[in-house]
Amino acid sequence: MSTIIPRIERLSSRVIRILGCNPSPMTLQGTNTYLVGTGKKRILVDTGDSEIPEYIANLKSVLKENDVQIEGIILTHYHHDHVGGIANIESNILGPSYRVPLYKYKRSAKDWDTERPPNSNSKYTFVNDNQTISTEGATLKAVYTPGHTDDHIALHLLEDSALFSGDCVLGEGTAVFEDLYEYMNSLKILLSLKPDKIYPGHGPVIDNPVHGITYYINHRNERESQIIDALGNSGRPMTALDIVKKIYQIPEHLYPPAAVNVNNHLSKLKREGRATSSDDEHWQLAGKSAL
Ligand SMILES: [Zn+2]
Repeated sequence: MSTIIPRIERLSSRVIRILGCNPSPMTLQGTNTYLVGTGKKRILVDTGDSEIPEYIANLKSVLKENDVQIEGIILTHYHHDHVGGIANIESNILGPSYRVPLYKYKRSAKDWDTERPPNSNSKYTFVNDNQTISTEGATLKAVYTPGHTDDHIALHLLEDSALFSGDCVLGEGTAVFEDLYEYMNSLKILLSLKPDKIYPGHGPVIDNPVHGITYYINHRNERESQIIDALGNSGRPMTALDIVKKIYQIPEHLYPPAAVNVNNHLSKLKREGRATSSDDEHWQLAGKSAL
């Protein structure tokens, strides 16, 4: 049974978590949003999904109870369950005449220069890797951590040695990713920061992050060795499905998602020059000729 996340919870002297109230198989109990700082004006990290009146009401009550305002919003990445709430916050909380900066890392392709928050006329303020965004009592350093998406940032809360990890590291379950090669590099970057605590985009606070991230990296490396062994022992090129059948002990209906996973590993191995495929379907180890 996973930890039940309360709708609103103060996590430290400078962090209050407000749950996005958008539970689903993908978002688990919902997206975590965090109000950060100690002053009259604070920074909100992520905004949950769009059209969730319960979230807007909860956020409003937190602001009122603490007698504070939002002075800026940081988005960890472009997924709808993180940026969807922007328009509702603008119209229902900030009001028509007040706008705050919406900080986000730019997506990779050129045509994302004009990316806008959904249903809003506002523009994003694009941030750089290592850029610092400060509010009274909190300094947040953006850490570019692609892999889950091409625009993903984590935020290092310097005063508390804590990390807002977005969807790069989750409080429960395992994260999905667009690009495993980038994703593994990002995990290593987060590990090198040696945070004492992780505030994830979904799931409960992670109290022993160094152990958790190391475990996750090891798990992925183990899977990778199994794939390399399977390719090495095979007398002919293998498809992702062939590999799944060899190394996973799972029921047949779970083969397709496992094959997606294996394909991610194969792309990473290809990028590292360790596996080859002429058609991205039949794979062998690099330097090994097919029989
Ligand atoms: Zn996401």
